[in-house]
Amino acid sequence: MPLLTKAVRGTRDVLPQEAYLYRYLENTALETARNFGYAELRLPVFEHTELFERGVGGTTDVVQKEMYTFFDKSGRSITLRPEGTAGAARACLEHGLLAEALPRKVCYALNCYRYEKPQAGRYREFRQFGVECFGAAAPSADAELIALAAELFSAIGLEHYRIELNSIGCPGCRKVYLESLREYFQQHQDTLCGTCNERLAKNPMRILDCKSPVCASVAANAPKVVDYLCPDCQSHFSAVQRLLDAMGIPFTLNPLIVRGLDYYTRTVFEFISESPELEGLTLGAGGRYDGLIEELGGQYTPSLGWAMGLERVLLQLKTGNAPLPEQEPCVLFIASRGEDAATVTMQLVNALRAEGLHVQSDIAGRSLKAQMKFADKIGAQYTMVLGEEELQTRRANLKNMSSGVEEAVSLDDLAEWVEQKIIQTMQEDLQAYFNE
Ligand code: AMP
Repeated sequence: MPLLTKAVRGTRDVLPQEAYLYRYLENTALETARNFGYAELRLPVFEHTELFERGVGGTTDVVQKEMYTFFDKSGRSITLRPEGTAGAARACLEHGLLAEALPRKVCYALNCYRYEKPQAGRYREFRQFGVECFGAAAPSADAELIALAAELFSAIGLEHYRIELNSIGCPGCRKVYLESLREYFQQHQDTLCGTCNERLAKNPMRILDCKSPVCASVAANAPKVVDYLCPDCQSHFSAVQRLLDAMGIPFTLNPLIVRGLDYYTRTVFEFISESPELEGLTLGAGGRYDGLIEELGGQYTPSLGWAMGLERVLLQLKTGNAPLPEQEPCVLFIASRGEDAATVTMQLVNALRAEGLHVQSDIAGRSLKAQMKFADKIGAQYTMVLGEEELQTRRANLKNMSSGVEEAVSLDDLAEWVEQKIIQTMQEDLQAYFNE
């Protein structure tokens, strides 16, 4: 019979051979962020639609074209989160986390939903790790936030990327800039796509983000926001750069990076892949959004954050042959012959698992030969066969599956023995690593 259905377009099943790598990435990200003072938040998958309309911005592609929005059974407009910042800000506001001990630093690993055209590295359901720092106005906050991303990349061995940096100023300097920008784009109105013509009226800065090559070529010569920064924004931007230099974090300036909404302010940045296969792919992005908390009904709280796409980060690690951890192997498979041996096997396996060891035995009622074949297939490091004789002597042969060497061990010291073998294998691996 054919399968009833398949996964929805743009979604991906993360299978066991890859799922543990996401766990590894998330754990490393959480640990790295923790060292910078970030605590994890877990947020709802869906929110009231107006949160994203206000928190992401009604003129963005995400809100205009890409949101999964529906009415629930009581007629409320609900949206599957397209990103994490708005939800994190809402949750912190709602629970009073911004009323005390600022800055408040939170981080999250979550799935996002955007109705985009699926392609390599772009999905309709994808995973992000993000950090948000609420209540920090100084340039050191911007530099620390970027340093956190650099530290995370270093911790997971991600290379071949660049940090692109820009400042989009404050609403004050932006006002003057928007006038020049509108004037410039009006001169090229006939060349711009239909959407950009609408943007011209509502928010010309969004034109700088347009993916159409024609609009991009017009945008390349548009006035640059950095040339319009007020003295305060200028000195903030210089300080961020000076601090990054002082920490030895390289970056390049890219005046075309924008977040064209009023509450995004000053520093914006992107982490861009430089690996030959993924050149130009955005691994993550972020910036300052000093106006967001007010926009959501809170008090003025200068804040900033970034998010990175975990699928893209993993793609980059794999294409760059970064050292990824191996999946925890089955350390021992105990095969058995006969009912009594099967019972003792279950007792032993249970006791070893209680010691925290990954041990398996037959639960499919297979012949001894088939059990051994299965042990081989799952890559068990050691195997042991229990039969009548082994039960009587309480000793059995443990076989190292890669060297074929066998050793007799007492069933009563099995846990200790297996633990010793694990330590020995780890030491040998370390030795081999240092000898390389
Ligand atoms: P953004 O919220 O658009 O700045 O996205 C932050 C990061 O999430 C991007 O840099 C990507 O790494 C990732 N990302 C955004 N959209 C997608 C998508 N449709 N599929 C996979 N990753 C995405």
